[in-house]
Amino acid sequence: MAEIKLNSIITNIIKVSESMRIIRVKPDEWNLPPFKAGQFVVLGLPGSFPRISGATEEFKKQDPEKMIRRAYSIASSSTDEYVEFYISLVRSGSLTPRIWNLNIGDRIYMSQKPTGMFTLDQVDENQNVILIATGTGVAPYMSMLRTDALHRKGKIVIIQGASNSWDLGYFSELKLLSKMFHNFTYYPTITEPEKEPAGWSGDTRFIQDIWVDPQFSEKIGFKPEKNNSHIFLCGNPIMINTMKDLLHQEGFKDHSRREPGQIHAEEF
Ligand SMILES: Cc1cc2nc3c(=O)[nH]c(=O)nc-3n(C[C@H](O)[C@H](O)[C@H](O)COP(=O)(O)OP(=O)(O)OC[C@H]3O[C@@H](n4cnc5c(N)ncnc54)[C@H](O)[C@@H]3O)c2cc1C
Repeated sequence: MAEIKLNSIITNIIKVSESMRIIRVKPDEWNLPPFKAGQFVVLGLPGSFPRISGATEEFKKQDPEKMIRRAYSIASSSTDEYVEFYISLVRSGSLTPRIWNLNIGDRIYMSQKPTGMFTLDQVDENQNVILIATGTGVAPYMSMLRTDALHRKGKIVIIQGASNSWDLGYFSELKLLSKMFHNFTYYPTITEPEKEPAGWSGDTRFIQDIWVDPQFSEKIGFKPEKNNSHIFLCGNPIMINTMKDLLHQEGFKDHSRREPGQIHAEEF
């Protein structure tokens, strides 16, 4: 059996809601190399680790001797001592029901080379950036804001969609940052307001409906156009595809290293 080395330690677990957690992980006697905000690493646990009792049947039985590995965006900045993740529990999944069984002090595998192109470094700092997320898709944006994005010259907007207000991880930090930085707007929206025990005074529309509302430009202080803005899309593939269709109609183009455009996407 190949040795499974759990090279990192869980140092903090913040329970955002029943199915969302912020987890901090510290490499044990090694250092994660400097990374660009927006990149991801791989977390892993052996198949022999138990899943939480509320998990539903696993799609595929895991080999107890093999490591289950999945990609997770880093939510902390490169200068933090720990590496932070914002993770959503997939009850029918393999890795997340095992992560939910871990406590502070437990060990986990973390890959040693952050990767990914979902970063701001190819966007001119005078351009506006609109960072759109569903659920845990806000994680790479937290890394960007916590690193240096708020010192860009262009405006920054985060639109964060979730089912309910308790699923809006980082809500307080994002609200506070929007009050502290005049170039940053935070725009949360929830889609199941009827479940809110104390009501919700914010937006309740899907992200694509907010985007096509002419008043959206007034609220963020500019009209996003292909010449002045880059759009980042992260999270649910349905949201990403719907937004891409809308943006293509408005003349925005998908970005790749070979063919630069204004739409950057990371599907979870
Ligand atoms: C670049 C990147 C960054 C990511 N960052 C984050 C992040 O920051 N936070 C986060 O929460 N997630 C993130 N993800 C998603 C993450 O990698 C996992 O996919 C997610 O956590 C689910 O993992 P799991 O092992 O629990 O579920 P999985 O075992 O992967 O299962 C997921 C779903 O697929 C079903 N399924 C499994 N196998 C099959 C099959 N063969 N055929 C049909 N259905 C199947 C399962 O029943 C389940 O419903 C990211 C993904 C990518 C690619």
